[in-house]
Amino acid sequence: MKPKTGTDRDTTRSWRPATQRVRGGTMRSEFGETSEAIFLTSGYSYDEAETAAARFRGDDPGMTYSRLQNPTVAMLEERLCLMEGAEACRVQASGMAAMTAALQCQLSAGDHVVSAGALFGSCRWLMTDLLPRFGVEVTIIDGRDTDAWAASVRENTKVCWLETPANPTMDIVDMRAVADIAHDVGARLVVDNAFATPILQRPLEFGADIVTYSATKMMDGQGRVLAGAVLGSEEFVNDELLPFQRNTGPNLSPFNAWVVLKSLETLDLRVRYQSENAKTVAAFLDERIPTLLYPGLSSHPQHDLAMQQMSAGGTIMSLFLDGGREQAHAFLNALELIDISNNIGDSRTLMTHPASTTHYGVGEEGRAEMGITEGMLRLSIGLEDPLDLIDDLDRALAKSGV
Ligand SMILES: *Cc1c(COP(=O)(O)O)cnc(C)c1O
Repeated sequence: MKPKTGTDRDTTRSWRPATQRVRGGTMRSEFGETSEAIFLTSGYSYDEAETAAARFRGDDPGMTYSRLQNPTVAMLEERLCLMEGAEACRVQASGMAAMTAALQCQLSAGDHVVSAGALFGSCRWLMTDLLPRFGVEVTIIDGRDTDAWAASVRENTKVCWLETPANPTMDIVDMRAVADIAHDVGARLVVDNAFATPILQRPLEFGADIVTYSATKMMDGQGRVLAGAVLGSEEFVNDELLPFQRNTGPNLSPFNAWVVLKSLETLDLRVRYQSENAKTVAAFLDERIPTLLYPGLSSHPQHDLAMQQMSAGGTIMSLFLDGGREQAHAFLNALELIDISNNIGDSRTLMTHPASTTHYGVGEEGRAEMGITEGMLRLSIGLEDPLDLIDDLDRALAKSGV
């Protein structure tokens, strides 16, 4: 009997989302295993020399080398495509490998990029340090200001780049408006969707051309592996991303691909549960501290736009204390349950002080421009009971004089 698989596109596209998350992309070997296999192999062998030749010519769909194709990696890519509603996907060794590949595969010297300023620290480095070294000019603007996008695009603008919600400022960017502005000059909109995940927000539905991920975050969701993904049209992925990736080799290991693949089965459950927990904690903090930014609460200045784009507020929020770094560090040090960690999207609740960790390298000027103050903290909510989290936060706030 032919083993059932989840790779026949016509069938899997007709499945409902929960079925796609569990079965989409599954390829079974001749053993009929229920759980997807880990193909830890770098190479493949051929029955005949002519088969090898046919594969390299592209006349035979089989695999040749794991920098080019791997079954476990392919299963993850197909499942991500279904979840994002994208035509094609390639995964990379980390979120930053994904961001770098997404930019370098389509940019050349003389091109121009417009980027929102509020970005993950390393993404900002790509814009301010890496791209200019290769002759790509980058204009950095306040992503919340739609007029600034319109005023900054030019004839040679190839990419408009943003995060929404942004790390760690929780800025929300109007994806539809920016997509229209980008398309008017023939540029593409790339959205780094790490914070919302495809469960809460699907940027392609708002006009984005390319979606990028740090799959290290909610997709793995249990703090185990680094991974990244780039999704878009078949044309973009096959003609631009794939030649870059196959020849430069930022590939994800099959083992790490398997970890993320299995995690996708529960992504919806985790994101929705952690988002509910986050809302409960945010409601407490909103009353208790000077300023809280959580897209799911009406106190967020862009709450309405956030709720047009996202189906819930997400798992992450930013806290602003009045007492600067001293008070922020004292608060972190007073936590007994919540871990001090610069990671996000874990089953454990984690808190960090961006100015001295994730955004230290951005420098004082960059932080000021982005609105990252010395009293700011970023909180990523996990799967614990939110009442225990509130107890811990309440105790630590009191102890640090908030
Ligand atoms: C973490 C993160 C990245 C980088 O991902 P890695 O997996 O750590 O390389 C990029 N963008 C955003 C928004 C992130 O949160």
